[in-house]
This record gives sequence, C-alpha cells and structure tokens, in this order.
Amino acid sequence: MTTTRPTAVVTGASSGIGAATARELAGQGFHVVVGARRLERCKELAAEIDGTALALDVTDADSVAAFVAAVPAARVLVNNAGGARGLAPVEDADEEHWRWMWETNVLGTLRVTRALLPTLVESGDGHVVTVTSIAAFDVYDNGGGYTSAKHAQSALHRTLRGELLGRPVRVTEIAPGLVETDFSLVRFDGDEARAAGVYAGMTPLTASDVAEVIGFAVSRPAHVNLDTIVLRPRDQASATRVHRS
Ligand code: NAP
Repeated sequence: MTTTRPTAVVTGASSGIGAATARELAGQGFHVVVGARRLERCKELAAEIDGTALALDVTDADSVAAFVAAVPAARVLVNNAGGARGLAPVEDADEEHWRWMWETNVLGTLRVTRALLPTLVESGDGHVVTVTSIAAFDVYDNGGGYTSAKHAQSALHRTLRGELLGRPVRVTEIAPGLVETDFSLVRFDGDEARAAGVYAGMTPLTASDVAEVIGFAVSRPAHVNLDTIVLRPRDQASATRVHRS
C-alpha cells in the first residue's frame, strides 16, 4: 500500500454511513482504507474510490491486529462499525444481542482506536471520528441494549478528548438520529416490513447526509475541533418523537 495521499480508515464501510463516508473522504483526496466483515462489498467500493479493502471484524482482536498491521500510517480514523440487535424490554433482554452490541459498538471502537492511535499521533494532524447516535445521550423503551452500548461508546470517545489534549489529534463525535440504511434490517434480523416501518411516513436522513457532515468536520483547519455533532431529520425531535404524515 504505497500512496502519497493521506490515509483515512473507515470501519464498517461495506454499507450505509461507512460506505458513504469512504466516498466522501476519497473525494477530499484521501486514500481510504475500508474495512468490514463483508470483504467483497469493500473490494467493490475500494475499486470505485481507488482505495484499499481489508477484512475486519472489530469483535475479534486478531482480525483488528491483522487489519492495523496492513495500515502503515493513518491520519483519520472513522469508527463507524456498529449497530443494534433487537428491541426488547430489559426484563426480556437477550444476552446475545446485548453482547453483540457491546462487542461491536464499544469494544470494537476501543480495539481499533487503541491500535491506530500511535500512527494518528505520528501523522501530526490526526482525527478520530466516532459515529455514536442520539441513543448515546437519550434512552427509549425497549432500546436498553443499544442505548447503553452507545452511551458507553460515547463515554470512551469523549474520554479521548482529554487524554489526547496536547497531542495533535482531533476528536469528533457524530450523533445521528434516524438514517435510512441497513441498520433496521440488521436490528430486526432481516424483517424488511418491520425495518421499513421505522422510516414510514417521514423523511429520514440518508447515509450521504451524515457522510457530508463527517467530511465537513474532517476538512476544518487542524486547530478546529468539532467536539460533538448531533444531526436529525427535521421530522424527528428526539428518539421517541417523530412526525409521520
Ligand atoms: P449498516 O448499513 O447496517 O452498516 C453497519 C456497518 O457496520 C456495516 O458496514 C457492517 O459491515 C459493519 N459491522 C457490523 N459489525 C461489524 C464487525 N463486527 N466488524 C466490522 N464491521 C462491522 O448501518 P449504518 O446505519 O450505516 O450504521 C453505521 C453506524 O451508524 C453504526 O455505528 C450505527 O450504530 C450508527 N447509527 C446509525 C443510525 C441509523 O439510523 N441508521 C443512527 C445513529 C447511528 P459487515 O456486516 O460487512 O461487517
């Protein structure tokens, strides 16, 4: 992997917000390394944006180690891999769903960030962007597994802001509301009708809407740190208040 372009790493780039972010950053002149479990999708995207596709399972320490070993230097890391499984009250919580959400969103972010931090610092102008959610500061009935994981991911991310003070790395949290991607399909185990219902009668954000905001944060001058950006559809006032026509 030899390139004169600065490198941006995007996790969970095989679909949705991650894929759109990879396109956005490539458009800004980055060499983008795209990682996810579905390598074929990453390869197609990498071919389109002249980037590099690598297999990555953020829940697997060996996979993260192999991924990072193949990235000689990085200036930007976008922690995007994540998602939700299920929608159940705490009294009926499915431990496997909770474990998946904590492993992917929280420990996945920890593993990749920790491994890439030395090269982000070394770049002299590093940037860690983490895609959390409005679920990182809001809770809603039946969402405890996801909201607790996103709260923890956000706490981990915001802790970096202080720990990195004095070193050349910016830290930006992106907290979107409803975005129409495969998110709900994954959450509801492939149930297309149930997933479509999440966005029925309202206009959700698109993956590109979020990617453009990430691109804006990354393209500010090095001394400008956008700490937290919350973006929601106009039709959504909170996790539980959505206007539907
Ligand atoms: P998506 O289309 O389902 O994308 C999720 C991505 O995460 C996929 O590329 C998936 O790739 C990757 N991923 C899942 N588990 C992984 C693992 N173990 N290792 C590596 N990659 C993994 O959904 P999305 O909406 O774009 O989600 C992206 C992020 O935005 C997530 O963190 C999500 O929580 C957050 N978010 C979404 C919304 C929304 O309404 N859509 C709102 C707020 C925040 P593979 O399956 O190929 O591994």
